[in-house]
Amino acid sequence: MDSTNTTWRQTYARQERTRPCFNLDDCNLGTACPLDAGQFAGQSQSSLGQLARFPLETLTEILLGLDIPTLIAFRQVNRYAMSAVDSLPPYRKLRQQCPNILRAALCVQARGYDLRTLEETLQTSKCSQCSEFGDYLYMITCRRICYPCFDDYANREYYTPIHQAHVLRCGISKKDLKHLPSIQSLPGWYGDYEYNNYTYFHTRRYRLFDRTACSSAPNWSHSKHLSAKESDNLTKIKRYSCIISAPYLGLGNKADWGASCAGCRQSEVLYTEEGLHDHFEKLGPVGRGTNNWPCHISPTVQE
Ligand SMILES: [Zn+2]
Ligand SMILES: [Zn+2]
Repeated sequence: MDSTNTTWRQTYARQERTRPCFNLDDCNLGTACPLDAGQFAGQSQSSLGQLARFPLETLTEILLGLDIPTLIAFRQVNRYAMSAVDSLPPYRKLRQQCPNILRAALCVQARGYDLRTLEETLQTSKCSQCSEFGDYLYMITCRRICYPCFDDYANREYYTPIHQAHVLRCGISKKDLKHLPSIQSLPGWYGDYEYNNYTYFHTRRYRLFDRTACSSAPNWSHSKHLSAKESDNLTKIKRYSCIISAPYLGLGNKADWGASCAGCRQSEVLYTEEGLHDHFEKLGPVGRGTNNWPCHISPTVQE
């Protein structure tokens, strides 16, 4: 291993963000939503009725196409159903490596995407707005987003969901509402530290809809939407109640949650292990600069 590689590995460690935020990660999902895996292991004697007539491949395809709340509801039908779900490789992988994402999808009743889509998203690393690692998952539409893009004013509108009552006021019918991606928010502390504003506690459950999907739905009134005002605090609560940390699940068995670069102080960008390697290839490894502060040392300085 060369010296550059050694520096990279020594520097690859998860670090606190310069500005912490509160989101679904802070909702005690492990306590609030146990996944009770293996409760009936080894006792699969119940039948699945009509479903038992399908070949295994067909049953697997059906299960992969279910959203997480429906899949977990099906898993609770009987021991055979539990065994069928537990034997799905994507379910097993997510349960082992990032169970809180399954718990969050269940708790917020995320019905806009299936298990296959969730797994595919977690097997990619890129933010949907830029080329960096998207370390958060936007739970309404299953998109990856990095914190700097999520926090960027240019993207804030896109990642600010709309409350159900407001969607109805803007002309969308209750019937059409059912086809729009949404979640049911969880009570908890949400937000970040910004200027003198702190994190806020959210006590009620709201159905929150994806803004982009609403604005392209039939009968959507943009003028009614613009005339409705809400407080900055409520907007912040809604935004942060839709995101959760999401690892990159590559081919190996290790979830990569990302790490910041010690040489880029103040940066809120996280990198996957591979991404940080590329970053060091581009800017040079991290060493000590003026005042003994860590910084990137360009290849010419090393020589
Ligand atoms: Zn980004
Ligand atoms: Zn750096």
